[in-house]
Amino acid sequence: MESCLFCKIVSGEVPARKVYEDDAVLAFHDINPVAPFHVLVVPKVHVCGAAEGPGGEVWGAVMEGAVRVAELLGVNREGFRLVVNSGEQAGQTIPHLHVHVLAGRRFNWPPG
Ligand code: IMP
Repeated sequence: MESCLFCKIVSGEVPARKVYEDDAVLAFHDINPVAPFHVLVVPKVHVCGAAEGPGGEVWGAVMEGAVRVAELLGVNREGFRLVVNSGEQAGQTIPHLHVHVLAGRRFNWPPG
């Protein structure tokens, strides 16, 4: 989608600090990290968000990508948090599906 920021990052039009890439997903550092490790995993196809019902293939690709990122960051054993914000009330600001991979500190539950 032409106007979508994350589509522009996928295409290379907007630069990003890439962590991982395969045929289906791209992972890059969040521009405004809220943890020592904060990486976003996005599908290369444009999907607005979880509420769109991305389907098993897309979900599988982004979740497997997220676990791969945790391995690459070396945080898969100490612990990490995966977050998907869906819709404005949940805090979604970019309308392109993304999984936050957060690690490097202790996280509270319930989240704020
Ligand atoms: P959301 O609030 O769940 O939609 O998450 C969007 C995330 O995208 C936020 O954590 C932002 O900091 C991050 N973000 C916004 N613009 C950029 C960018 O240009 N590069 C990397 N991350 C970005």
